Amino acid sequence: MPRAVLLCVLLLSGCIWNYAAFAADAPKPVILLDPGHNPLNGGAISIRGIYEVDYNDRFAARLTEALQKAAFHVELTRQPGQSIPLKARAELANSLKPDLFLSLHHDSAQLIYLDKFTLNEKTVYRTKKKIAGYSIFVSRDNAQFNHSWLFAQQLGKHLSELGRQPTLHHAENIPGENRELLDEKLGIYRFDELVVLKNTKIPAVLLEIGVIVDEDDEAYISSRKNQEMMIQAIVEASKMTMEGMKQSDQEQHMH
Ligand SMILES: [Zn+2]
Repeated sequence: MPRAVLLCVLLLSGCIWNYAAFAADAPKPVILLDPGHNPLNGGAISIRGIYEVDYNDRFAARLTEALQKAAFHVELTRQPGQSIPLKARAELANSLKPDLFLSLHHDSAQLIYLDKFTLNEKTVYRTKKKIAGYSIFVSRDNAQFNHSWLFAQQLGKHLSELGRQPTLHHAENIPGENRELLDEKLGIYRFDELVVLKNTKIPAVLLEIGVIVDEDDEAYISSRKNQEMMIQAIVEASKMTMEGMKQSDQEQHMH
C-alpha cells in the first residue's frame, strides 16, 4: 500500500475509533452538593462539641467520592474552609444547571428538648429524650417541585431501607417547628421558604443526615460503616431519580 494511502487509512480508522469511543461515553449526570453552613457560622454544635459544618464537610467529601465512582459528575457549592451566602448557593446552582441539587446538614432540636452542659469549656447540648434519624425537606416554591419530590421520595425510601427511622420532631406543634409532613413514613417535610430550595430552578432537596445533639444518633452517624451505608443509599436514590426524571420527560414528550 502506498505510504500516503496507508496514512489516510490510519487517520480515518483513528477518527472512527475516536467517534465510537465518544458516542459510547454518554454525558455524566451532574449533581451539586451543598455542604450546609460556613466555617465561621458552623450551625448546630454536637454533643461532642463539634460544629455541624465539620460533619457536613466530612460527609460531602465521602459522598463525592462514592458518586464519582457511580459515574456522576460532582460539584460543590463550597470547599471546606470556604464561606458562601445562601443566596449565592442558589445562584451557583442556577448558573451551573446540574441535574440534581442536594443540601447536606446535620440536625439539632429545640432548646426545650435539650440539656445544657459544658465540655472542654464549650457550652454544648444533649437531648433529654431520644431524638434520632434523618429528615428530608422540599419546597413547593421550587421551579421543579415534581422532580424534587421524586428525589426526596427516593432518598427517604433508600434511607429507611437501612432500618433508619425518620425523625418526626420538626412536625411538632411548638415554636420553631410545625413543619408540614408531606410523607410521614419517608420523613419528608414541606419547607417552602428555604432559600437553597426555593430559589433553585433545578430539582433540589435538603437532607438532615442525623441528630448530632443526641448521644445515640451522633454515635450512629459518626460510625464509618453507617456513613458508607447512608452514602450508598444516597447514591442509589440519585441514580433512581435520574432514571425517573428521564422517564417522566419521555412521557411528557409523548403527550
Ligand atoms: Zn444545618
